[in-house]
Amino acid sequence: MRNGSCELQRLSREYGVRTRRYVGDRRRAKLDVASPAVERDAEKCILCGRCVRVCHETQNVGAIDFAHRGFRSVVTPAMDRSLNTVPCVDCGQCIVVCPVGALSEKSSQKPVWEAINDPGRIVVAQVAPAVRVALGEEFGLPAGTVVTGKLVAALRRIGMDLVFDTNFSADLTIIEEAHELLARIRGGGTLPMMTSCSPGWVKYIEHFYPDLLPHLSSCKSPHEMQGALVKSYYAQQRGIDPAKLFVASVMPCTAKKFEAQRPELGGMLPDVDAVLTTRELAQMIRAAGIDFHRLPDEGFDDPMGEATGAAALFGAAGGVMEAAVRTVYHALTGGDMPSLVFAPIRGMDGVRHAEVDIAGQHLRLAAVSGLRNIGAILDRMRAGERPYDFIEVMACPGGCVNGGGQPRNADPERVRSRTESMYAIDRDQPVRCSHRNDAVRDLYADFLGEPGGPLAHSLLHTHYVARQNR
Ligand code: SF4
Ligand code: SF4
Repeated sequence: MRNGSCELQRLSREYGVRTRRYVGDRRRAKLDVASPAVERDAEKCILCGRCVRVCHETQNVGAIDFAHRGFRSVVTPAMDRSLNTVPCVDCGQCIVVCPVGALSEKSSQKPVWEAINDPGRIVVAQVAPAVRVALGEEFGLPAGTVVTGKLVAALRRIGMDLVFDTNFSADLTIIEEAHELLARIRGGGTLPMMTSCSPGWVKYIEHFYPDLLPHLSSCKSPHEMQGALVKSYYAQQRGIDPAKLFVASVMPCTAKKFEAQRPELGGMLPDVDAVLTTRELAQMIRAAGIDFHRLPDEGFDDPMGEATGAAALFGAAGGVMEAAVRTVYHALTGGDMPSLVFAPIRGMDGVRHAEVDIAGQHLRLAAVSGLRNIGAILDRMRAGERPYDFIEVMACPGGCVNGGGQPRNADPERVRSRTESMYAIDRDQPVRCSHRNDAVRDLYADFLGEPGGPLAHSLLHTHYVARQNR
């Protein structure tokens, strides 16, 4: 998986190591492939401990650790179990730091190629906001290079029948979430409300703080909303049998692979059939022999290809909060914010706070990224405090731009560069508020009815479960 980009190979080349001076036994270990998101090949492991550190110190999960001694030392979940049977949240941060490819995402390329080659299926790709500012790194471009047009063209060359933009449903998520927040405030519902679009975070609270699950927004994540709409709204509009539609999400995230398999999501059909990481898409582009640099810029298909600047912000930590504040402001005042940039919530810190007054409604807000940073807030809530009214939580430090499915890039400025590009996409959009997305307005007028209404609720919302080991 990392052949050619392995740090150990690079060091061996650099130091001229061509032969093994010491011969002896080789450590044998079973492949751990049971998790829907993360695979382990312990035979490749060089015991550097980076994964253990990120899992314990950055994510506060502790799903893996060193076990045994000397030659038998190994990095493993407790009792040599599979990652699938311990409270791993599938965030993939261990994959990003592993220098040798002993950890990797569970590949979804085979089912996607099979669907593409099946003449009876219509394959629909959708692309998350953060993918477009990172995919170029796989082809030698600097971190943060925006490659949206080439990305769409590549997906068509690979064989996708339709290419939609997950940003469309990011706008939809904001409208549903803002509506839910105001309904909770006005109706005395559970507060603070916490965002639910990061599946690693959702799994974390299900495992470690299940008593706080009522605080999670019931909104599905944007790509799940989009999948549900492709198989209902779009199928109905075009007279297509939903069973023929195969939805492949291209995501910066490994936890979305687990999320897509949740039984709570989808009805007779799953909302999303396969999740590809940014890295996997790059592998597919190479496998198809496509010269990425020579691709023309192409646009997304309609009607789920139209999005506002607010939707792009989803890719950056604090972005969901910033986009939601724009729409809450509109819901409370009927107008748009005089300045759309909500500076207090921007930046690289793992926890950011802000307070706003909108038409007499005082809101205490927080944006948190990296799971270690949410623990203290959850502990205060468990003790009966209500420190905020609305909290955004992203499992990965820096948000989706630094997701576990993004290109492995040692550039220490990569998160900042990708984040700045997300802000630039927002800044350059002619429409920058989710409630002003005309295609989303048409969706409500022609199909869904009211935000939070019965059909919106059945297609776009979900529930959560307390978990022990999985
Ligand atoms: S995916 Fe996340 S939670 Fe699971 S072992 Fe890796 S770092 Fe830990
Ligand atoms: S990061 Fe990779 S090589 Fe290092 S201990 Fe973990 S699995 Fe082994």
